[in-house]
Amino acid sequence: MSNPNLIWNKEFETMPREELRKLQLQRLKQTVERAYHKVHFYKAAFDEKGVKPEDIESLDDLNKLPFTMKKDLRDNYPFGMLSEPLENIVRIHASSGTTGKPIIGAYNSNDMNAWGEAMARVYTACGATSKDVVQNAYGYGLFTGGLGFHLGAERIGATVIPAAAGMSQRQLMLMEDLGTTVLTCTPSYALSLAETMAEMGISRDRLKVKCGIFGAEPWSEGMRAQIEERWQIDAYNIFGLTELGGPGVACECAYKSEMHIWEDHFLPEIIDPNTGEQLGYGQIGELVLTGLTKEALPIIRYRTRDLTVLNAEPCACGRTHVRMDRIKGRTDDMLIIRGVNVFPSQIETAILRVPDLEPQYVIIVDREKSVLDNLEVRVEATESLWSGGEAAREAAARQVNKEFQQIVGMTASVKIVEPKSIQRSEGKAQRVIDKRSL
Ligand code: AMP
Ligand code: ZN
Repeated sequence: MSNPNLIWNKEFETMPREELRKLQLQRLKQTVERAYHKVHFYKAAFDEKGVKPEDIESLDDLNKLPFTMKKDLRDNYPFGMLSEPLENIVRIHASSGTTGKPIIGAYNSNDMNAWGEAMARVYTACGATSKDVVQNAYGYGLFTGGLGFHLGAERIGATVIPAAAGMSQRQLMLMEDLGTTVLTCTPSYALSLAETMAEMGISRDRLKVKCGIFGAEPWSEGMRAQIEERWQIDAYNIFGLTELGGPGVACECAYKSEMHIWEDHFLPEIIDPNTGEQLGYGQIGELVLTGLTKEALPIIRYRTRDLTVLNAEPCACGRTHVRMDRIKGRTDDMLIIRGVNVFPSQIETAILRVPDLEPQYVIIVDREKSVLDNLEVRVEATESLWSGGEAAREAAARQVNKEFQQIVGMTASVKIVEPKSIQRSEGKAQRVIDKRSL
């Protein structure tokens, strides 16, 4: 565990909740004013609902406001959502979406400052200080990961190595030669790098790495255990999305129990994804976020499609900001198999409960031979299981199915495949192939 007393900005991160709510309301009003008067899309959406900026008198009035959807951002590509002329914009990013037009992120200098602050809090919460050497292996470029992590590392005064994703052998060489203490990348790339470390025969005691800050894709507690064991580090979860500015919306603290949402910058809600009704703390639903300090591109009630639970219990670290649980799935990555709802994260959890399997898998959904959906899970054996013969592999497959049955109440066609046969990821892992929609 890192030092739980390290806090980047005590005044804001430990602000009494009553005071925090006042600040949120004040910032919400400012954001709503700006959005309504400067962005045509918001004015039209507010007018359609018959709501005016003056109607926001308390935080409870938030649910009078319209939602913003991914489609709205797409329809207003590239600059339709901007509240300021392009000459004020100092940075553009774009989402990693593979189909259609991307989602644009645009920042003025205050937005950059707020992003740096959020990321500085993240590093500090994970125990990083100016003494650390941060190897940033998130992708640099339009993706917010690389430059977002870079910004925060500079802000805390750490030594940042902009390694970017890929070239794994070189990553390991740099890590050893430059004395990297903090690794930042996607969890799937952290696993892949651990394999490279083993392949290169680098023993762990030649490296100084002590923690990793991993996010940008879903991962389970089982995956955390794997990463922590292989690297002998503390692995922390961080959450963010392009629409809200990038990484640094929420992050775990030393206690690794759910992610604090920086509530003076982001106002979270949980809603029922089907009805849009607000749900309370402790109830699972879709995360909706409003930016409280976003200027160039105001975001009001953005429906993230990410499913999680908010926890308002005080945390031992002293931060007063609510925590969000690990993302359970996305409303749009839920697979409906023969009528049963299945999330890839549930499959990952089942796999990682079975020893002798690698945390490398793909999920293939097909409707080829029959009208019934077929759910196939391919998962890699460890070297020892692979060499242990057919019977041992079948037993492992049965074990996965037993766990899976317990979690979702159905079985899958589990195939144990050869070690290293599944493609490794350097960024966001692609784990589901849905042939039904091809
Ligand atoms: P992008 O804007 O392309 O970076 O993608 C943002 C999306 O990545 C989020 O809406 C989540 O679905 C996913 N994501 C980011 N961080 C995490 C995380 N720590 N756990 C699970 N999913 C995440
Ligand atoms: Zn905490």
